[in-house]
Amino acid sequence: MGKALIIGCGGVASVAIHKCCQNSEAFEEICIASRTKSKCDALKEKLEGTTKTKIQTAQVDANNVDELIALIEKFNPDVVLNLALPYQDLTIMDACLECGCNYLDTANYEPKDEAHFEYSWQWAYQDRFKAAGLTAILGCGFDPGVTAIFTAYAAKHHFDEIHYLDIVDCNAGNHGMAFATNFNPEINIREVTQKGRYYENGEWVVTEPHEIHKPLNYPGIGERESYVIYHEELESLVKNYPTIRRARFWMTFGQEYLTHLRVIQNIGMARIDPIIYNGVEIVPIQFLKAVLPDPKSLGANYHGQTSIGCRIKGLKDGKERTYYIYNNCDHEQAFKETGTQAVSFTTGVPAALGASMWAKGLWRGAGVFNVEEFDPDPFLAELGEQGLPWHELFDVNLEV
Ligand code: NDP
Repeated sequence: MGKALIIGCGGVASVAIHKCCQNSEAFEEICIASRTKSKCDALKEKLEGTTKTKIQTAQVDANNVDELIALIEKFNPDVVLNLALPYQDLTIMDACLECGCNYLDTANYEPKDEAHFEYSWQWAYQDRFKAAGLTAILGCGFDPGVTAIFTAYAAKHHFDEIHYLDIVDCNAGNHGMAFATNFNPEINIREVTQKGRYYENGEWVVTEPHEIHKPLNYPGIGERESYVIYHEELESLVKNYPTIRRARFWMTFGQEYLTHLRVIQNIGMARIDPIIYNGVEIVPIQFLKAVLPDPKSLGANYHGQTSIGCRIKGLKDGKERTYYIYNNCDHEQAFKETGTQAVSFTTGVPAALGASMWAKGLWRGAGVFNVEEFDPDPFLAELGEQGLPWHELFDVNLEV
């Protein structure tokens, strides 16, 4: 049915590419384009012969709009999946507009010199995508992504009004390393060392990093210490569901991980401003990324599960009710299928599925959309088959 250009060839992209190749009826042809072409070629070689999807590869610097335009004009895709880094969101959106191509990503734009993420930069493209009759789908990984689709599903089927939303993200896996991040280390460390932020009664409440925490019980896993951090889907969800009184995002961290993070910050290795070392300008966090384990390499020894979901309280037919919708994903199973661990798997599967929703004409529209603005039903009807089964619990103790 369609042609997709996939930009990036890291952990998340590898999973999405596996999934596109398993769904050849939606993705007849793909082009894998990234900064390091050899990684794209290696993946093409691995997948060719296992799929009907035709695969091309290309080199591209996604910071360069002209290079992107040349690539899009040459391959002529229906949709671009941006699975590179959040720094490249705007250049890729610019190139899509220039070439009349649709767009999807998994993380909102962040300027490289400021650890700050919000949707304003990408929402500012609304009029241009609308005028061009093109669809831009923002944040179609797991969180953001499935968590917002879970919320849309709850609002559609189980609540007249959502009042309290707590997104809970637990990684109970063990990769056997003293310290490693589960996705791009630079983006991950920037995200988790920020101040906490949550929404309450129409305002954003700012906390010190990891200031609010409590043990929460995760299905099939048990109790894990969970910390309130800021996460981007909160911004679009409180806008799209104005009955929400409080929205928070909780993530589990082990003590060992937090200790390493504190040391990394204290010794200046989390700095994002350039310093001069031996006469050369380097950015400490980028140097750190180069010496930390590649998240893609963690899969082989990763055991245990992730559990991500939404805990919701609100009203249905005038009565208060609680609801918990979640997915558990097993690191070993994810590795067996795609050669990557569960964090990349839970992000790459929804990205490919969101693109296939667009390709099948189920998620369409002119403008810039967060995923909760589309119909959650066809997406969730397929999510389990694609490897991420989900479960619902009604009227349970939400603990939050
Ligand atoms: P990786 O670092 O593993 O991969 C990033 C890829 O992008 C690499 O192939 C890299 O190339 C490529 N790349 C980087 N810069 C450029 C550039 N200028 N031009 C072309 N290609 C470039 O990251 P992940 O796969 O772990 O993460 C990918 C995205 O997914 C990130 O935006 C991350 O924030 C997001 N994410 C979203 C989640 C969600 O649930 N919504 C969860 C986890 C991640 P090279 O190989 O040369 O380095």
